[in-house]
Amino acid sequence: MTSIVTRFAPSPTGFLHIGNLRTALFNYLIARKSGGAFVLRLDDTDAERSKQEYIDAIQDDLDWLGLGWDRIEQQSKRLDRYAEAADKLRADGRFYECFETPTELDLKRKKQLNMGRPPVYDRAALGLDDAARVRLRAEREGYWRFLLDQTRIEWNDGILGPLSIDAASVSDPVLIRADGQVLYTLASVVDDVDMGITHVVRGSDHVTNTATQIQIIEALGATPPDFAHHSLLTGAQGEALSKRLGTLSLRDLRAQGVTPAALLSLMARLGSSQPVELHLSLDEIAEGFDLGEFGAAPTRFDTEDLWPLTRAELQARPYEAVAENIAALGVPEAIAPQFWEVARENITRMDDLASWWALCRDGATPEIAPEDAEFVEKALKLLPPPPYGPGAWKDWTDAVKSETGRKGKALFMPLRKALTGQAHGPDMAALMPLLQKVPARG
Ligand code: GLU
Repeated sequence: MTSIVTRFAPSPTGFLHIGNLRTALFNYLIARKSGGAFVLRLDDTDAERSKQEYIDAIQDDLDWLGLGWDRIEQQSKRLDRYAEAADKLRADGRFYECFETPTELDLKRKKQLNMGRPPVYDRAALGLDDAARVRLRAEREGYWRFLLDQTRIEWNDGILGPLSIDAASVSDPVLIRADGQVLYTLASVVDDVDMGITHVVRGSDHVTNTATQIQIIEALGATPPDFAHHSLLTGAQGEALSKRLGTLSLRDLRAQGVTPAALLSLMARLGSSQPVELHLSLDEIAEGFDLGEFGAAPTRFDTEDLWPLTRAELQARPYEAVAENIAALGVPEAIAPQFWEVARENITRMDDLASWWALCRDGATPEIAPEDAEFVEKALKLLPPPPYGPGAWKDWTDAVKSETGRKGKALFMPLRKALTGQAHGPDMAALMPLLQKVPARG
């Protein structure tokens, strides 16, 4: 099998969100499946907006998910390489200096649009002679554009299929700003080439970038990697997620109690023709993963879909895996495994254990319907004080039954509500031995 090298290239200007996770996961999985390498690349050429805090958080989030990287790279440490590439493009006549201000460019765009033409940069700066350039340089700093070859750029996209973009419909991309900052497009292709990236998987908002990047890579004398563009996520109703992504950060989801396996299982299948099922390991997830199964249509993401998976994941955990969490609640060790057996099926997130333990420790506020008040009062008189053995529920309900003549749901439900304060919950026979307190009798 060919060895695949992929990269996940977030800009450390914020926390990772659910959309980033999709990109990271896809790249991780195809590399892992082929026995290749997964590179974490920090796109931090924007010195003002990039922060160490986010670099740390990105690594922490990926660690939490178990998405380990084989190498970490940082663009701010590779500025020399970008300068070399810029020199080559300049020497080969593929780089040209421009001086238009944003306002001038805006004006040009408006004029073009008014005349019904696409707002593509008119290459006016290419026509400047040396004298004009010298004069302009004295007034302001120039910035650098890549001279696109105006042909059709074609590639076979790993998700979208054969694509082609007419380079004449795209403005020559600015690769170096007037303040000298190297822009993502140049840094990214230099890195992809230097780092031996064989497959670039990213969101479909990068499709046009891909067209220009293919030409820049070729101008640098290298071969473009394979590209695949996954669809963008929308909210449950199909609404754009871009504005809400800030609230869908991986940290927030983690704080809410979503588990890694739930997130990974959902994101590795959502938008594909395969069913979403809980997978407990990345190996399992990788096994059934195939980029070709993903469609081009926007993918609906609903946070609610994470809860059934989280619940299933937690419930599948053996006691040893949760012993620490349970000990932290103050559950005595002697009853801790039993407490887990009883509570596991009644939690959606780990934090829910706390309320089950509070119920066992302190007793519940009974819920008693007016028509059951007398019945419950009689029943509680028949309930011995804790601790209870395994037969306690049966003994009690038998006694209540013969005393009151009630049976079935009319017997059991009011008693459950009296002891737990709710209509649903664990098997009462299993719960009773954990109860340290019950409502006062009579
Ligand atoms: N830093 C870029 C982004 O987050 C990377 C895009 C790419 O994968 O090339 O959008």
